[in-house]
Amino acid sequence: DQSGIQGGTLRPYLKRKKSSFAETKVAVLGPHGVGKSALSVRFLTKRFIGEYDQSAESKYKYTTNVDGETMIFEVLDTVSENEDCGARDDVLRWTDCIMLVYSVVSRKSFDAIPELKKTIEESRKGASIPMILIGNKRDLAHMREVSTEEGEKLAVEYGCPFLEVSASEDVDTVTEAFHKVSREVIEFKRRSRTFIDRVFGA
Ligand code: GDP
Ligand code: MG
Repeated sequence: DQSGIQGGTLRPYLKRKKSSFAETKVAVLGPHGVGKSALSVRFLTKRFIGEYDQSAESKYKYTTNVDGETMIFEVLDTVSENEDCGARDDVLRWTDCIMLVYSVVSRKSFDAIPELKKTIEESRKGASIPMILIGNKRDLAHMREVSTEEGEKLAVEYGCPFLEVSASEDVDTVTEAFHKVSREVIEFKRRSRTFIDRVFGA
């Protein structure tokens, strides 16, 4: 019986795929010059390159291991040409989560975050989405304009994780930032699925 064979071969594959592969689409958003490209490239290549193309939006695909599980990352390094800081409708429809980036040496970039958050909420019509708040350039301690406490406070307000990182000096915290937000995504998807299963009895 053919359908029996098909079912027998297909089912374990689907089950395995569901349990061991996860995907996270990350949109890296924030004002110009905060280090969005530096962070994306640092995560993907473990290297720091001083200058990046300022005009091109880049999308990267990268498979790695998070907590012993295979994770496929798609990272969209946005370009903030104007006030929206890269938060276009199509970007916000596409992504699973948002990395909100400011620079700890730029008060102006930190002050731009609430407006960016508002743009995201309006575009998504209030539908929640996992986020992480990132204060980059913590290596430039002598130039700091935003305290760690201020970043923490804002993250508490947003109900999202927060990390200060340095794309230029440190691989580990940058990696942790992407891993952290991917865990938020997995948890978010798991909760949504539980909800759908409950409502539709699937
Ligand atoms: P983007 O516009 O947000 O993509 O910012 P870029 O990634 O192009 O970075 C802007 C500038 O900040 C570049 O000159 C980078 O070399 C520099 N930069 C990025 N991250 C860091 C960092 O963690 N520390 C320091 N000192 N400089 C950084
Ligand atoms: Mg850039």
